[in-house]
Amino acid sequence: MTARIIDGKALSDTVRAEVAERVKALSAQNIQPGLAVVLVGEDPASQVYVRNKAAACEKAGLLSRVIRMGQDSTEAELLDMIQQLNEDPAIHGILVQLPLPGHMNAAKVIEAISAEKDVDGFHVNNAGLLMTGKPLFRPCTPYGVMRMLESENVEIRGAEAVVVGASNIVGKPMALLLLAAGATVTLCNSKTRDLAAQTRRADILVVATGKPGMVTGDMVKPGAVVIDVGINRLEDGRLVGDVEFEEARKVAAAITPVPGGVGPMTIAMLLVNTLEAAERSAARQHQASL
Ligand code: NDP
Repeated sequence: MTARIIDGKALSDTVRAEVAERVKALSAQNIQPGLAVVLVGEDPASQVYVRNKAAACEKAGLLSRVIRMGQDSTEAELLDMIQQLNEDPAIHGILVQLPLPGHMNAAKVIEAISAEKDVDGFHVNNAGLLMTGKPLFRPCTPYGVMRMLESENVEIRGAEAVVVGASNIVGKPMALLLLAAGATVTLCNSKTRDLAAQTRRADILVVATGKPGMVTGDMVKPGAVVIDVGINRLEDGRLVGDVEFEEARKVAAAITPVPGGVGPMTIAMLLVNTLEAAERSAARQHQASL
């Protein structure tokens, strides 16, 4: 068997085009969805991510505001900036690019973002809403994975889903979204005994560890759908995922490539979250005016 390649680039183009249409519809009410991205310091990878997010916003007709703060900025200065953005009616989504410099408390910074503008979905209120099945914002990467599974018509209800990696930004929300969609979910971490025994049961296998090639072909169940979230830069400059792609594609029914898989979907879903925040804000304004 050779797996179908799930083209995240093509699907993200479709999602962005849908966003652009809905942005046009909102402009009839004189509302332009606005995303503020705050970047602290000079981390080269973060600079690229922020540039890509800003470009994607502009292309879909959203307002993009990038706020660059020096590496030596204080936490109080950052909290003050977030407060200004919380109060700014032109801004519907606020994203603080992680990682933050070591002298800042990331959890405290994220909690300072208004939960209604937390388009990353990392605020504890949003994590709690997701856990209780009433999500306001779904974190962008797992949200993008769900959209990929949907576009591939993958039967999630009743499926065995195994998520490898349990971070707050990918693995845990991924497990919750799969659970909400009716899968039986196993969430693995670095202490999992006999990881292969877990992954071999998976109809849907999502891997997000940051360990290049850690899932080998013999760890994949024949006919599984494999979603590789990992993005790893090798010493020779190549970008690879957490799954041995060439081996796994011989066993799986469908698989995401790296690059060109989950990565483009993450940005597309950030646009969706910002648009939906603006739509909710418009609905609140309309309600208040009645
Ligand atoms: P973290 O480092 O925060 O979490 C990694 C998780 O993987 C942890 O739960 C860890 O376990 C687990 N893990 C590590 N090694 C193993 C192992 N050998 N077996 C089982 N579990 C293991 O990473 P992130 O979740 O932030 O990111 C994961 C990957 O996804 C990275 O490559 C990152 O670049 C990529 N990523 C890609 C995105 C995209 O848009 N495509 C977006 C975000 C991230 P433990 O909890 O025990 O430490």
